[in-house]
Amino acid sequence: MTMETSEDCCVKVAVHVRPLIGDERLQGCIDCVNVVPGKPQIQIGTHSFTFDHVYGSSGSPSSSVFEECVAPLVDGLFQGYNATVLAYGQTGSGKTYTMGTGSNDSQSGLIPQVMNALFRKMETLKHESEFQLNVSFIEILKEEVHDLLDSTSLNKSETTNGHAVKVASPGKPPIQIRESSNGVITLAGSTEVGVSTLKEMAACLEQGSLSRATGSTNMNNQSSRSHAIFTITLEQIRKPKPASPGDTNQYEDMSEEYLCAKLHLVDLAGSERAKRTGSDGLRFKEGVHINKGLLALGNVISALGDEKKRKEGAHVPYRDSKLTRLLQDSLGGNSRTVMIACISPADINVEETLNTLKYANRAR
Ligand code: ADP
Ligand code: MG
Repeated sequence: MTMETSEDCCVKVAVHVRPLIGDERLQGCIDCVNVVPGKPQIQIGTHSFTFDHVYGSSGSPSSSVFEECVAPLVDGLFQGYNATVLAYGQTGSGKTYTMGTGSNDSQSGLIPQVMNALFRKMETLKHESEFQLNVSFIEILKEEVHDLLDSTSLNKSETTNGHAVKVASPGKPPIQIRESSNGVITLAGSTEVGVSTLKEMAACLEQGSLSRATGSTNMNNQSSRSHAIFTITLEQIRKPKPASPGDTNQYEDMSEEYLCAKLHLVDLAGSERAKRTGSDGLRFKEGVHINKGLLALGNVISALGDEKKRKEGAHVPYRDSKLTRLLQDSLGGNSRTVMIACISPADINVEETLNTLKYANRAR
């Protein structure tokens, strides 16, 4: 058997175990997740799983998730590589906390750290390159794409039978996912905001996080049933390099180089099964749709992770959901993908936690 080095694989999987939270402590829950010291390994009862990285509930600062898993993707953007970071897990497992797509405690999340790193790096390269940054922030709910940065639709939710229901802004055509002849995926009809400062970019994150759809279920009254996708597009023009004196290379490179790459930061919908939300017909339908995206994502990622299949040019089922369609040019190929499986350590969640770890395991 040949050992696969991490560089060979286009999908990396990390597990982030959050601490027990107030509610779980009140219910007398026990921490049943054992992180094996010094190894990226998790044990729950007799089950054992190994991933690329495991971040335990104690000991590992949140910055190491960024440094080890996400910072290389930010660097890759400057080389023209697309990338995707996905937070997967049941509602309440820490996806929004990890990504920083919440409307409050968002400073320590991955997206704010990505923004800081981007602007720091652009500063160091400002003499060599010109940059243009664009941001979009959308969500996919019931296989429909909604714009979270659309300032013309301030009043996007309506309440029907006590449920908040998303409505499209009047007169606006629905957002469509398009593929250009060279395989580039674009979103027609969504807001793209050009940003030139960290502050402007942070304002986009905040605005979109606030307008994100939430609804209440039995499991968590701020449960998110949608996939939220924050996308940063970096365009770069590398200025021509005049040959420096004493340069042995005779050629002066006077041509400009244009690079464009995007990074998708995805806070996925809760992975729990629809039946556990104990919901009415409406919710159940949403659950089914959510599972459609997560199911397709699992299939795409496991097809990409299977090197043998990849070499045989096996079919990757991107078209099975809006989520995978949208991420198509940023999953697989030359792009880099990190899945962060978020789990609760509480014994009452053990069934969903095992489901999450099994799903994440398929990606390797
Ligand atoms: P999800 O988005 O998966 O539904 P959240 O990110 O909203 O879950 O997290 C659920 C709760 O757990 C929130 O109150 C959040 O503040 C808390 N939490 C999540 N991850 C952590 C963590 N690593 N450390 C401390 N609290 C956390
Ligand atoms: Mg959330």
